Amino acid sequence: ANHPFTLHRFPLEQKNRSLQAWDSADEYLLDYISEEYQSVRNILVLNDSFGALSCAISTLYQQDEQLPCIHFVNDSFVSTAACRHNLKENQLPLTHISFLDSLETLPHAVDLIVLKIPKNAGYLQHQLAQLSHLPADIPVIAAGKAKEIHTSTLKSFNHFLSEPKTSLAVKKSRLIFSSTTNKPVNSKFPVSWPLESTEMTLINHANVFSRDSLDIGARFFINYLPAGKKPLNIIDLGCGNGVIGLQTLKRMPNAKVTFVDESAMAVASAQQNVQHNLPERLSHCQFTHNDCLTDFAPNSTDLVLCNPPFHQAQAITDHIAWQMFLQAKYTLRNGGELRIIGNRHLDYQDKLQRLFGNCKVLGNNKKFTVLSVIKRS
Ligand code: SAM
Repeated sequence: ANHPFTLHRFPLEQKNRSLQAWDSADEYLLDYISEEYQSVRNILVLNDSFGALSCAISTLYQQDEQLPCIHFVNDSFVSTAACRHNLKENQLPLTHISFLDSLETLPHAVDLIVLKIPKNAGYLQHQLAQLSHLPADIPVIAAGKAKEIHTSTLKSFNHFLSEPKTSLAVKKSRLIFSSTTNKPVNSKFPVSWPLESTEMTLINHANVFSRDSLDIGARFFINYLPAGKKPLNIIDLGCGNGVIGLQTLKRMPNAKVTFVDESAMAVASAQQNVQHNLPERLSHCQFTHNDCLTDFAPNSTDLVLCNPPFHQAQAITDHIAWQMFLQAKYTLRNGGELRIIGNRHLDYQDKLQRLFGNCKVLGNNKKFTVLSVIKRS
């Protein structure tokens, strides 16, 4: 745990570079396992934000020339990209790491499980339910901010794994000690609910944005979605459960929609929602797990629809929205449109005006504004 690493947060262009790529819970976890578990060959690492744990664990359990086998499980495309980047940056290979997303089956042959406690309690339940299917007696060491570990968190551990114990708090972080019991319990996810004013049902995996009800921004945005018979190529950028693209497909019988999100559970939910509600349109849709529109072809799209995020890895920021706007401009054809909804106080209007040279307000309420910009060069 004393090995010096160079670790970067993602995205690399983010302005506030003072935010660290690791936290005191990572340090606590690494100190603990390096004391208690001397030789580990197969380790499951869940929710490592930017690869700090994976880098440190690679060297911690290196024996002679052999690196341990790490199964890196993450819902986030950006976290996975950051982990790959930070491993390379620290001259570590990628060959000993298998990258799994949050819905893939977990490997059974593991000696140790480390887990960063996610903010989303439902997502934690999903992950503990996955662990409950593994063989018994694998130690599970979880770490998180002390103030985010509640009685309900411990209850979840108890429900899916062995009775947990907790450590003292150190630098405002705490560890939870538990183990697998091989008594498989399923979680309640995905959850489904009827989409108001429609015949549709929305299916939502545990880590999807606004999983339990329609987002109020999305509800307002739906009033300003396009309609008509044009065969447009449309992108639902940051699609979440896909509600925006789905409603657009409904209004535009000849449109094709690409759903993009950095959450694997969002992309899976969007796909299931098209399949369930508009199965005849499935072949006109694509579902892409990506960081915004990275590697999308330029001048390839007629319309980008977006309800952008305003936080990432627990930091409030508008840099992702900005990245989305820049990449939307690159991906749109000349004359193509970016249509977004934003919180009024975020002042996207000014930003978009500067970037596109035009910006039209399509609608406002007390909280939100819907804006449209056209790519002109
Ligand atoms: N479109 C959905 C709706 O209206 O309910 C979700 C909107 S939510 C405000 C923003 C979405 O952007 C989330 O689903 C989040 O996972 C996604 N997101 C965040 N960062 C992203 C990134 N770098 N690339 C792609 N999607 C991202």
